[in-house]
Amino acid sequence: MSKKEFIIGADIGGTWIRVAISPIDLKKEAIIIKKTQTPKINEYSISNAIISLITQLLIDNNIEKDQILGIGLASAGPINIESGEVFNNANLGFKEIPLKKPIQEKFLSVPIYLINDCNASVLAVHYFEASDDEKDNIVYITMSTGIGGGVICNGHLLLGKDGNAAEIGHGIVNHQSRFQCNCGAFGCWEVYSSGTGVRNRALEAIKTSSFSSKILMFMVDNDETNITAKELFQAAKGGDKFSKSIVDQCIFYTKVGVGLVNNFYDCASIYFGGAMMKDSDLILPPLIEQFKTEPILFTINTPPQIKVTKNLAEIGIMGALTLVKYKLEGNPLIL
Ligand SMILES: [Zn+2]
Repeated sequence: MSKKEFIIGADIGGTWIRVAISPIDLKKEAIIIKKTQTPKINEYSISNAIISLITQLLIDNNIEKDQILGIGLASAGPINIESGEVFNNANLGFKEIPLKKPIQEKFLSVPIYLINDCNASVLAVHYFEASDDEKDNIVYITMSTGIGGGVICNGHLLLGKDGNAAEIGHGIVNHQSRFQCNCGAFGCWEVYSSGTGVRNRALEAIKTSSFSSKILMFMVDNDETNITAKELFQAAKGGDKFSKSIVDQCIFYTKVGVGLVNNFYDCASIYFGGAMMKDSDLILPPLIEQFKTEPILFTINTPPQIKVTKNLAEIGIMGALTLVKYKLEGNPLIL
């Protein structure tokens, strides 16, 4: 009897590294995941952590190296698919982080594929969640520390020349903005609507307006530096006017961003993910209502369906595994 065959995925984020192993037939319930906090000691500490998690998974599950058919690495970008590196990432700590090469040295004959995390996530939506009538035209949008996207258009995953297609969070939604993004530009969508953006806009408004908000200040022990998106959304739900104005701004620019995404890609469905979807009950209903009643203010194309992924925490790692499966099968989606 031939040995069972497995695939491995890794999801590299600013806070966590997740590594997973799955039989090649890839069913959600059979995926085994291990995670560790992202080490930032030197440029090799991430690849070392991945190698160590893979080794642990193999030992724990009694799997031999030669049973592994492929490894998928999904990383926060920007990436270079060709060289297998991550570069200029503000959250991972080093200018250039080699990922593929050090891992390849430990798994010599195993094919290793690199992808950016949002492109991985849209693959996971395609494989695990999307219905047949929508799956050829879907966009995944993460609203988290930043905003990012992955696009499948006409049954093809859009990758771009280096693998960084669909950096939708850096679309400029307000060209007169005085607010500068991490990327250097002014008025990017994530400046207004990401978790970091919402926090920064609140701190900015506190400095410049006649600010008063007892609820919000009570929630952060009267120290405004403790304000995060979480408190702002919570206070807005409780009726706090100041917090609601910041949240409304986040929602308005999300309408602009989503409208542009739909203009560019004419998508059947948009799936949202990322930490901010804990407050999807505040963010998404006005968006859905807008695209139902008066879409033309934001998009010229038929509006997409708006959904939230069912796999909020695991979508990236599920995408890394899907990448390997699709590559090994020669799936035309990523040829
Ligand atoms: Zn930007």
